[in-house]
Amino acid sequence: MLRKMEIKGLVKGLHHITATVNDAQEDYDFYTKALGLRLVKETVNFDNEKVYHFYYANKIGSPSTVFTTFPYKGQGVRNGIIGAGQATHTAFSVPVASLDFWKDRLNKFGIPFTEDSLFNLGVLDFKDPSGLHIQLIGSDADHREPVWVYEDITEAEAIRGMHHAMLLVHDKVMVNDFLEAFGYAVKKENGDMTLLEAGAGGPGNTLIVKSDPKARKGVNGLGTIHHVAHRVDSVEDSLRIKASMENRWALHVTEVLDRKYFRSIYFRIPGGVLFEVATSGPGFTVDESLEQLGKGLKLPDWQEPNRERITSNLLKYNK
Ligand code: ZN
Repeated sequence: MLRKMEIKGLVKGLHHITATVNDAQEDYDFYTKALGLRLVKETVNFDNEKVYHFYYANKIGSPSTVFTTFPYKGQGVRNGIIGAGQATHTAFSVPVASLDFWKDRLNKFGIPFTEDSLFNLGVLDFKDPSGLHIQLIGSDADHREPVWVYEDITEAEAIRGMHHAMLLVHDKVMVNDFLEAFGYAVKKENGDMTLLEAGAGGPGNTLIVKSDPKARKGVNGLGTIHHVAHRVDSVEDSLRIKASMENRWALHVTEVLDRKYFRSIYFRIPGGVLFEVATSGPGFTVDESLEQLGKGLKLPDWQEPNRERITSNLLKYNK
């Protein structure tokens, strides 16, 4: 029985990070034109078809390169508060030598930034138009292909994918214990921060847990990260994780949901952060070609009969 509940090794690293944001146009412009990610899917929030779901990623939308947003402008959603019980930062990985390029580029786009370091890696800290904390991390340990070459961003500079998600929690011991059981291993500690890695480790497979017992509790809303998704190979692996989360940790885990591009379960971990476990496949080319990715609105099959009404309710923006 214990052997059956052992889930170590099933979680391979990050799949995607999803945030609640404000306006569609400013979101699209920031993640594609400024940061050079590719919009690989334009669809709607499967739980609220009044709102777009944008997926930004590398050319084909590989797990660990995917950052997704729900632009909720005009839907009566308040501004959120970034705080404990949430992922507070989305960090993207770039080559060390490209950090000067990125400083120039952020200046060119009028994006204020500060320079920092995290576990001896150079960091550029800035905010997206909705107030989300974004970081570019200089790492030469990242062997993924450049995500996408956009206008004046070359292969030498392009983002490689997610570097890590940072979680802010009140109780580091409890959360790290949980994450180790979930499939991440503690690799480094530095003051109030712990760096953990899953699977093969390195950029895209990393979480940083920051602990602050006095941190204000986060509130969901515009400008906050909604959840962090981790990747597994199969639905069978998701089900083993679900059983372990329910039996060993007494967590409430959803049924497996069909997200068209992957299959997902969701649960809130000790410490409050919403996690998703998503399958690596089938991927973003299930309903459009590699060439066409992100070019037109894709709907889940059950929403296709409502396309006209859905389209008329969505925010207007230009690509
Ligand atoms: Zn998700």
